[in-house]
Amino acid sequence: MSIMAVNKVDLKPKDYKSEVPVVWCPGCGHYGILNAIYRALSEAGVDPSQLICISGIGCSSRSPYFINSYKMHTLHGRAGAVATGAQLVRRDLAIMVLGGDGDGFSIGGGHMPHLARKNVDITYVLFDNGIYGLTKGQYSPTSRPEMKAYTTPYGGPEEPMNPLLYMLTYGATYVAQAFAGKPGICAELIRGGLEHRGFSYINIYSQCPSFNKVDTIDHYRDLMESVPRDHDVTDLGAAITLARQSSEGKAPMGLLYKVERPTLDQRMQVMIDQVGGHPDYDLNQIVDLNRP
Ligand code: SF4
Ligand code: MG
Repeated sequence: MSIMAVNKVDLKPKDYKSEVPVVWCPGCGHYGILNAIYRALSEAGVDPSQLICISGIGCSSRSPYFINSYKMHTLHGRAGAVATGAQLVRRDLAIMVLGGDGDGFSIGGGHMPHLARKNVDITYVLFDNGIYGLTKGQYSPTSRPEMKAYTTPYGGPEEPMNPLLYMLTYGATYVAQAFAGKPGICAELIRGGLEHRGFSYINIYSQCPSFNKVDTIDHYRDLMESVPRDHDVTDLGAAITLARQSSEGKAPMGLLYKVERPTLDQRMQVMIDQVGGHPDYDLNQIVDLNRP
């Protein structure tokens, strides 16, 4: 989303906490990500009354309840589609999608490429724990073959997908990654996503100690390597090279890619301006896109 249209406020991270008690298991990585979101919202100065957090289904999809904002808890995998509609009709709001790997890339997999290629002006934070936690441990699109769960007692028969490569390939204009054990870095990357005009995708590895016994916090500490200081974030080829590390035993941490490209709402505005005044196509009466 663009926070250019959102009132700047001076609030502490704790002011973004809602009254709803957080109900995740002890040791869940999602706590670190939630704290990073509070911090990012505080640092970006987002007015809670101009913030919508949208989610699908899953442990991480509960996070909107814990944030002082408007919220929509939608259908499994459909948060991105709902957020697209919300962004087009309310360009005066900051819009975040918060959800997990199964929700985003399996049930919602059909929506993900379109968020990226359309450059929908939202910030998508994906809590990637390589498992379905809420339904008590089924392997997900990002599970490693070593991960044994109820549905894969001997390990998995599939290779995990690579969310970074996916997002870069489909045209996301802001792509970053970190893990829950580094909430400061997570906050910095989420804030960057909030301030980016276009589709921002932040993949955050998160340990699920209750059901995923291989992707521990120590595993992520060994796995992650900071993006080199001299990495050019506008170089798609260099970003793809870094993203491929995730399929080769290492994973980049930091901002991989950031470019400017017209967003879906900007391009629709151009169309509306072109048909403006046509007696049969008064689109502004259907959808008010004249907001800043
Ligand atoms: Fe976190 Fe896993 Fe518990 Fe869900 S099941 S709250 S992901 S530890
Ligand atoms: Mg998951």
